[in-house]
This record gives sequence, C-alpha cells and structure tokens, in this order.
Amino acid sequence: MIDKKYKMKFTDATLQDSVAYTLVSRFNIEPSILRAEIEGSGGILILKMKGEDSKVNEAIDFFAEQGIETTELGDHILRDDVKCYDCGSCVSVCPTRSLYHDPVTFEVELKIQTCVACGACISACPTNAIKLTL
Ligand code: SF4
Ligand code: SF4
Repeated sequence: MIDKKYKMKFTDATLQDSVAYTLVSRFNIEPSILRAEIEGSGGILILKMKGEDSKVNEAIDFFAEQGIETTELGDHILRDDVKCYDCGSCVSVCPTRSLYHDPVTFEVELKIQTCVACGACISACPTNAIKLTL
C-alpha cells in the first residue's frame, strides 16, 4: 500500500479536472488534493495518493501517456538555517504543524513528511529563509 504525496505537472490545465475521478474510478486510488495552481495554460497539482502499489504505478504511467508528469514529493521544501533566526512567524501559519518550536531548544524545526507544500510559511518569513522547489 502506497500513501505518499506527489506533484503532477500539466501542460493543459483542463486535464486537472478529471484526475481525481480517474484515480478513483479507474485505479481504486484514494486521492486528496492538497494544492492546485494554474500556470499559464498548464498547472500543478499537489496530491496524496493512497492505494495499492501496482495501481499507483499504473496510474502514473497512464497519466504520463497523456503528457502529465508525476513525481513523488521528497525534498520539496528547504530552509536556510543561516537565514532563519527562529522567530516563529512560520509556525503560526503552518496548517499541518510541520513547522514547530522544539520544546527543549525553542528552535523552529521542520517536519517535511507532513508538509503539504501550501506555501504559507514562505510569505510569512521575514528573511526569505524558506523555499519550495515544486
Ligand atoms: S509549505 Fe510551509 S506552511 Fe505549508 S505545510 Fe509546508 S511547512 Fe507548513
Ligand atoms: S519565519 Fe523564517 S526566520 Fe522565522 S522561524 Fe520561520 S523560517 Fe525562521
């Protein structure tokens, strides 16, 4: 069973609408859309896919044939520890508590596994210490 986050990159934004339906009906995958962005005539979708390994891989191949590139999210968010001074502004805006104060050191820590790439922390940071690489 796979339960991971992916980025899908579209060159035709109209295709985005049918992705969730296709994942459920054709591949029995449970999708959770975390973020959708239109970029010109294309766009990106950040979503979680939960389903059988073989079905997720089949779905990725299926979408690739339609020109939709799917990549697993890994090191999609980076924080520059030199620029960060633990002010906590990002902590208060993070919807998934992926940014939090360490209770012992009071330093701000980042838990990449739960980050949904919403981007809220980026605009909240006064030193531009956080970057999303989507
Ligand atoms: S992008 Fe930033 S605010 Fe959004 S979930 Fe990830 S760490 Fe939290
Ligand atoms: S808002 Fe920026 S400087 Fe402040 S704790 Fe977060 S990453 Fe560090």
